[in-house]
Amino acid sequence: MTNNKGMEIKMPEDDASKNLVGSLNSINRVIAVMSGKGGVGKSTVTALVASTLAKSGFKVGILDADITGPSQPRAFGLKHVNLTGTDFGITPALTRSGIKMISTNFMLKEEDDPVIWRGPLLAGAVKQFWEEVDWQELDYLVVDLPPGTGDVPLTVLQTLPVSGLVIVSSPQDLAYMIVKKAVKMANQIKTPILGLIENMNELICPECNGRLKIFGESQGESLAAKMGIELLGSMPWDVNLNKLVDQGKVEDYYSAEIAAIVEKIVAKTE
Ligand code: ADP
Repeated sequence: MTNNKGMEIKMPEDDASKNLVGSLNSINRVIAVMSGKGGVGKSTVTALVASTLAKSGFKVGILDADITGPSQPRAFGLKHVNLTGTDFGITPALTRSGIKMISTNFMLKEEDDPVIWRGPLLAGAVKQFWEEVDWQELDYLVVDLPPGTGDVPLTVLQTLPVSGLVIVSSPQDLAYMIVKKAVKMANQIKTPILGLIENMNELICPECNGRLKIFGESQGESLAAKMGIELLGSMPWDVNLNKLVDQGKVEDYYSAEIAAIVEKIVAKTE
């Protein structure tokens, strides 16, 4: 595997050392984050879930498998990372709060490279991320899946031992069909669904801090009930969150909503 400078990541050559790759890994739970389409906040939710778990004292990693928009490095201010390796595997990047991160972005020479990343190639890379990264001990590995419910996220889901799936939706795509597809897919491959997160259901007014229901009454609760899954919570559109993501400081964000959502995720994966 090469890093984003096109340089081969140094990995052990002799057979004895090869056996060491991944040998220190002990990953307790894998949480995958999925959405029906792009732009609903899947990557932002992944980043917030991971950083809230880290703030609660858990050892956390992020596996960014979103090739069409690998936004984890940017959200955490980790844009210029050259991965290196040891006898124990590829050393993941480290965020300010100690989250270990690996991203398809760290592997690309050019920004337009993802065009050639079809499902099987991505699945191969994700398998390597799982087996050949020196994660060591993690309580949670949070996976940012490719958007949608097609072959590509499905292949990634099947590549990893996922303990629970979180589905992110926004009022615009909170259509029955899209969420239903995600639920069906998870059921087909027997992946437990932790629940639904409804993102951007309201807008926090930057002037008065009031909550504006720009999309009308929230439908998350009734939709989740119809699907037989839990609504983990709803998150408002918060201009401060958007700013922090842009500045690479997503770890500085706190909201009661995300804290409550993560508390539920922890309770469901104990
Ligand atoms: P996806 O991963 O589903 O494509 P992203 O997480 O990249 O979507 O979000 C798209 C944009 O919306 C990003 O600029 C992100 O910062 C912003 N965003 C997402 N959710 C929120 C929110 N609740 N409040 C403010 N900005 C948000």
